[in-house]
Amino acid sequence: MIPDLFPDSRRTVSVVVTAPLDGPFDYLLPEGRPMPVPGTVVAVPFGRQVLHGVVWDTRPEKAVDPGRLRPLGSALDIPPLPWTLRRLVDHVAYETVSPRGQVLKLALSTPGALEPPRTVDVFTPAIGAAGAKLTAKQRQVVEQAMIEPRTPADLARAAGVSTAVVKKLIDGAALVSETRTVEEAWPVPDPDLVSVTLNEGQAAASDRLKDAVAARRHQAFLLDGVPGSGKTEVYFSAIAACLQAGRRALILLPEIALTSQWAARFARAFGVNPITWHADVGSSRRRKIWRAALEGKVPLVVGARSALWLPLQDLGLIVVDEEHDSSFKQDEGVPYQARDAAIARARFENCPVVLASATPSLETIVATERVGPDRIERLVLPERHGSAPPPPVEIVDLRTRTPRRSIGFLAPRLVAQLRATLERGDQALLFLNRRGYAPLSLCRACGHRFRCPNCSAWLTAHRLRRRLQCHHCGFSMPEPDHCPECGTIDALALSGPGVERIADEVRHLFPKARTALLTSDTATTAGQAAAVLDGMENRTIDILIGTQMVAKGHHFPDLTLVGVVDGDLGLGGGDLRAAERSFQLLYQVAGRAGRAEKPGTVLIQTHLPDHPVMRALASGDRDRFVATEIEERMDGGLPPFGRLASLILSGPNQIDVQSAARHLSLAAPVDPRVRVLGPAPAPIALLRGRWRERLLVQAAPEVDLPAWIRAWTGQVKQHASIQLSIDVDPYDFL
Ligand code: ADP
Ligand code: ZN
Repeated sequence: MIPDLFPDSRRTVSVVVTAPLDGPFDYLLPEGRPMPVPGTVVAVPFGRQVLHGVVWDTRPEKAVDPGRLRPLGSALDIPPLPWTLRRLVDHVAYETVSPRGQVLKLALSTPGALEPPRTVDVFTPAIGAAGAKLTAKQRQVVEQAMIEPRTPADLARAAGVSTAVVKKLIDGAALVSETRTVEEAWPVPDPDLVSVTLNEGQAAASDRLKDAVAARRHQAFLLDGVPGSGKTEVYFSAIAACLQAGRRALILLPEIALTSQWAARFARAFGVNPITWHADVGSSRRRKIWRAALEGKVPLVVGARSALWLPLQDLGLIVVDEEHDSSFKQDEGVPYQARDAAIARARFENCPVVLASATPSLETIVATERVGPDRIERLVLPERHGSAPPPPVEIVDLRTRTPRRSIGFLAPRLVAQLRATLERGDQALLFLNRRGYAPLSLCRACGHRFRCPNCSAWLTAHRLRRRLQCHHCGFSMPEPDHCPECGTIDALALSGPGVERIADEVRHLFPKARTALLTSDTATTAGQAAAVLDGMENRTIDILIGTQMVAKGHHFPDLTLVGVVDGDLGLGGGDLRAAERSFQLLYQVAGRAGRAEKPGTVLIQTHLPDHPVMRALASGDRDRFVATEIEERMDGGLPPFGRLASLILSGPNQIDVQSAARHLSLAAPVDPRVRVLGPAPAPIALLRGRWRERLLVQAAPEVDLPAWIRAWTGQVKQHASIQLSIDVDPYDFL
């Protein structure tokens, strides 16, 4: 027997605290209190604050003298945080090199939900009240209260009397109060309503998913199929199987795809609206959903990235729709990839996870070709349900435009197609992934360019607001009437197109057409975006002009022309996924044309007609494009064939940041499997008033990169003014 150094150590509890530190920290269990189970949410003293924390599964440190521990605060009266979610916190903290407490905050993002739920006073008949002498009206009230205790207002309504009658009974002690928590009636989707007869290919895919659901087996699937091939129908069938088995389902969608269209479709299939979780959900509803999820009362949630952290109990299925979408990667705070984290959570839950996409990410495709436990099984739906062929894509070569035409941004070919579409009475969509009116403002007299004082970036002209605006920080200024450099009046020249400018051009060309603009500037909430999309659906819009907000998941039967104003926009820059993402985005936009009986046409304007992305779009040969991309990544040892991390140091003083970055780079362990590139100024060298230096770490696939980085950066102390942001497997290269 090893002597117990501190006999009291059985009374220590280890707690992860919602502070940007790893933990767990040890606390002393006060005398007479039972040992809380792991997952119990507690209040603990931390520094001079009281913070929320969660009792962790780890054993307390043996060698800590309990006499020096601070006492554990009260345990909250809610069910413990599920084990799977605790594992997920550990996993994501490890993979992203983030403090565990900061990751825990994602799981406890709704602090209000931890407080006791709201209660109401309901009234029930006192003993003997029914036998007492009562008026007819009073008797009605008492009878109603016998059926079900209710609030005075509800009782009055049910009995068809005034509240004064109820009040009199309460004053006379014929009705007594009882405290009740407010119960929300959560919609219960009915899996038996799902009734689509799947075609052969769909049924085969569905069977694979349903098998895994029934077997409660963890397995990752890729549901790979062109738009309209029935991916949604197939995963709906798996959700139905999951609900029938009495388990719960979580569906993740890109924020913008969470429009009323998806919910309406779900409602048609399952009979009720789904519970949704995204940025627009108000805090009181958030609280209720979070709490109900923890209490096991919510059968299904559909949400954006952050829904992954909901404490849903006993998950039977996770779906990640549009799995390639970059919004699943969080770039700030805890830089995690929600798709990867969803797979991890499904592993802990012991349930299948379905990734669905018409343009799967390279990471996922490569994982389908792998052997071993990380393999993803690929289920292919090769064709559109029904017969509509995919729309032909025509490349419009902008290099051959005559200079005379350079006043506008729409090529004659595209204008002619727009005209023809309007004459047919159909709808058109113009896509340009750039907000505002013009990306660059300059003085015609002296050439002065307007730039952000806080960032290394030009200011974008926004005509709707008559302001120049920085898209990286909040800076904006009124459109100037004179040049700050040379003083010339009214010499502002706006260079290049943004969506607002395209909308102007369209209105000028087709004054009678009904146009609408959809960007994050015109629609700041999901509701406003939905209103515009409803306009498309109800045919009150002829031409819709928009940014990537228009790209996703919408289905408009009369939309037969899609024009991409600048197909090259996403191809520049040092982003390793630039080509892949451009292809995915343009493919998705193109897919908006001719989704129903009517055939569609897609025109893409480009200065790079020979670029592999343009060729792949024109030929419709996705697989060849993907194969070339995979080869390039393989040759370069880039993800998923190697690992990458970006370390950005930032601070208010440029010299200090540079020296800190040099210092950090010199401290890098020598390892033949790892290359540290830089430091060099980050592409956006100044952001929100902070100077930025970047180090890129490239490692062989077998390297445990998070551990390597932790060992490296852990031994270098940063000055308080310097911030180090680590992004393992970055998607953002700015
Ligand atoms: P995806 O998710 O791959 O874009 P959807 O599931 O949205 O495809 O299917 C496209 C359209 O075809 C939808 O309107 C859907 O209801 C319909 N559809 C797909 N499969 C079937 C089927 N087996 N029976 C009837 N309609 C189907
Ligand atoms: Zn700025």
